[in-house]
Amino acid sequence: MKKHNYSAGPCILPQEVFKEASQATLDFNNSGLSILEISHRSKDFVDVMEEARSLSLELLGLEGKGYKALFLQGGASLQFLMVAYNLLEKKAAYLNTGTWAANAIKEAKLFGEVDVVASSEDKKFSYIPKKYDIPADADYFHCTSNNTIYGTQMKKFPATRIPLICDMSSDIFSRQLDFSKFDLIYAGAQKNMGPAGTTLVVIKEDILGEVSRKIPSMLNYKLHLDKDSMYNTPSVYAVYVSMLTLRWLKDLGGISAIEEQNKKKAALLYSEIDINPLFKGYTAVEDRSIMNATFTLSKESLKERFDSMWKEAGINGLNGHRSVGGYRASMYNALPLESVQILVDVMSDLERKA
Ligand code: PMP
Repeated sequence: MKKHNYSAGPCILPQEVFKEASQATLDFNNSGLSILEISHRSKDFVDVMEEARSLSLELLGLEGKGYKALFLQGGASLQFLMVAYNLLEKKAAYLNTGTWAANAIKEAKLFGEVDVVASSEDKKFSYIPKKYDIPADADYFHCTSNNTIYGTQMKKFPATRIPLICDMSSDIFSRQLDFSKFDLIYAGAQKNMGPAGTTLVVIKEDILGEVSRKIPSMLNYKLHLDKDSMYNTPSVYAVYVSMLTLRWLKDLGGISAIEEQNKKKAALLYSEIDINPLFKGYTAVEDRSIMNATFTLSKESLKERFDSMWKEAGINGLNGHRSVGGYRASMYNALPLESVQILVDVMSDLERKA
């Protein structure tokens, strides 16, 4: 039986994508070859890479606006470093909304001055700081749109005159934003996009070329752009499965269509968290993520019972991140509303029986 998969990432992907990828693992495009054994320079794979790149821009509404998409390796964590390597000359501004933002800050400090304009560390990253000034002389401003571990999500982004850079690893393609406000967006594939192993980087080309340092080839955005994301062997399978997932999303009606579903799923779960006296939300209500809902039990003594109830209901991956504890329900694009209903039923069942 298929589990109701709330895993935070790698995570659930559409069943249709799993089926098509399975078929291509045996025989890709009726070629008599597996996707895993063809050259990355073959036309069949170059077409996959190009479709993945163009679908990314199309879904984000960024076609023809001076942006290009790359599928790189090294995870979102390598982007913490690459962003600073390619763009930080003297000083950069960062918003600290949790572990991943802090990791980005740590890497940027290797390259110059880092101005942390605000932090929510005082309340264990359970909210998004709203009031802060971004220095006009910074090379860029970096923020994290969705804080996977804590379950907070930025609903508004500051208007900046300097390049706006965002780690969208855990909510890319899940909600409509004016993506043209951003100059660089990156996201590890392993949430809404595909399997682990590739990272989408969307860059407005005109922000590059400003730093004076020499940049090693593999860390140089310009070089990857010049080589159409094929400077070296890309993560062929991860890019392929990402492309299938992006096709699935386009066929469904794109980001606005999936956003409707994501909002319904989040509303269903948060209303149970709010109504049910046995549960408590972890974050400030206005900053709640529609992707990762974090909550705790009001009585720790119910833990064993609750854990066995959700496991019996076929639910997987509900434990909170080790740094926060409690529970985290990750409701990525491919998670059906029915799975959320199952969890809500288990939560209300616990209240009835407790
Ligand atoms: N940023 C965010 C928001 C994340 O959720 C994660 C991983 N879950 C990362 C960065 C790090 O990604 P990776 O493991 O691909 O380096």
